[in-house]
Amino acid sequence: MADDCLFCKIAAGEIPSDEVYSDEEFYAFRDINPGAPTHCLIVPRKHIARITEAGPEDEALLGRMFLRANAIAEAEGIVEPGFRYVINCNEDGGQTVYHIHLHILGGRALSWPPG
Ligand code: AMP
Ligand code: ZN
Repeated sequence: MADDCLFCKIAAGEIPSDEVYSDEEFYAFRDINPGAPTHCLIVPRKHIARITEAGPEDEALLGRMFLRANAIAEAEGIVEPGFRYVINCNEDGGQTVYHIHLHILGGRALSWPPG
């Protein structure tokens, strides 16, 4: 747990959130400013500031994060119509919270490319 990290605090339950999934490794919740009808974030409880800081020791963790996200997408009913995963990195990538998180977006047709 990193000091002053919003998503560490949310995963620890120190800051309230709208939980969609929780286990010993991951926490998922609804984005406070949703960009689509379904907009969830899944975070590892382990603090990693940005995706490029993940190391070889995180390889399996990141794989499991996608499998948990798949289960969330299934539960949200967005798999068959279609959905999108997004990981933003650094300023030009639009990252605002420096604890890695996978956006799960769906519930409407999403445009491409992103702005
Ligand atoms: P990013 O811009 O990729 O770093 O994504 C950060 C996301 O976290 C944004 O979509 C925010 O709307 C969302 N967010 C920020 N604070 C909270 C919060 N307290 N609860 C839920 N989502 C949040
Ligand atoms: Zn953190």
